[in-house]
Amino acid sequence: MADVVIGIDIGGTITKFGLMTATGKVVFHDNMPTTGFSGFDEYFKALTDKLSLACKKTASQVLGVGVGAPMGNFIEGSIDMATNLGWGKKVPVAGRFSEFFNKPAYLVNDATAAAIGEKTFGLAKKMDDFLLITLGTGLGCGIYVNGKLLHGKHGYAGELGHVTVIPEGRKCNCGRLGCLETYVSASGVMKSVREFKTKKGFENSVLHDEAAYPDSKAVARAAANGDPLAEYIFEFTGEVLASSLANVIAMFNPEAIIFSGGLANAGSLLIGPLEQFLSRKVLHNLRGKTKIYVSKLDSEKIAVLGAASYAWQMIEEHSHNKSLVV
Ligand SMILES: [Zn+2]
Repeated sequence: MADVVIGIDIGGTITKFGLMTATGKVVFHDNMPTTGFSGFDEYFKALTDKLSLACKKTASQVLGVGVGAPMGNFIEGSIDMATNLGWGKKVPVAGRFSEFFNKPAYLVNDATAAAIGEKTFGLAKKMDDFLLITLGTGLGCGIYVNGKLLHGKHGYAGELGHVTVIPEGRKCNCGRLGCLETYVSASGVMKSVREFKTKKGFENSVLHDEAAYPDSKAVARAAANGDPLAEYIFEFTGEVLASSLANVIAMFNPEAIIFSGGLANAGSLLIGPLEQFLSRKVLHNLRGKTKIYVSKLDSEKIAVLGAASYAWQMIEEHSHNKSLVV
């Protein structure tokens, strides 16, 4: 029997999971839909059925569970009112997994899990101060300061997606106006398409054909082909992002900001304008100091790897503390 921990990344539509050894070897990886269940209990049963089967197939012994999820609260071990999941108030996710496997279970925010993945396996291996920003349906952020994760007093640190970037701007799922993720995310890009396509000069843009260009990936393709509206949208998105990151850089003085997720795959289409606007907006003594990267890790696996690594770290810390007491 090989000792493993389970890593789980609960996304709005897909849940990814895997089994990882202490040396970081992934012995099993799969996914299933997050939606289509009557509630958390039915979802939990389907997921634990799959995990139990995977453990049996791979002859693995589970030592712990690490979970990354939107609105995942590390301190309480619960997911609270995640807008896309619809599971209601305070679902005790860590407690349920711990009970089921009779082993310790840990819950972190999904972007925090991705940051742990980047720190353990990616570009941030040797960095003590960096931010990992996930650009998916929304915008998430995991923060390392002085080599340690920043959780905050109540476990909600890193909600960069809900920092106000344009006062009285677009309406956000959180109920507020002008949040960063309503501009800088896959869904934010599509909002920009709808907002700007009626502007003068964009009458002939291919983006008017919504069936052919239904998502941010297609908008990136149009921009790469020189469509003026698509190019304008990436320029605009880069500028809005730069405004927020100039504040973030002034606050945290990070060595790097690393992007992961679907929209990050647009690469230089987004990073180009971002760096250009950042060089103007950042406080003069910090100018050019923070490096901007796109993660090289598979964005499909980064949070699973991070959640599993976190569980290993916590298990090792715990056994170390125990031996100190003895
Ligand atoms: Zn918001």
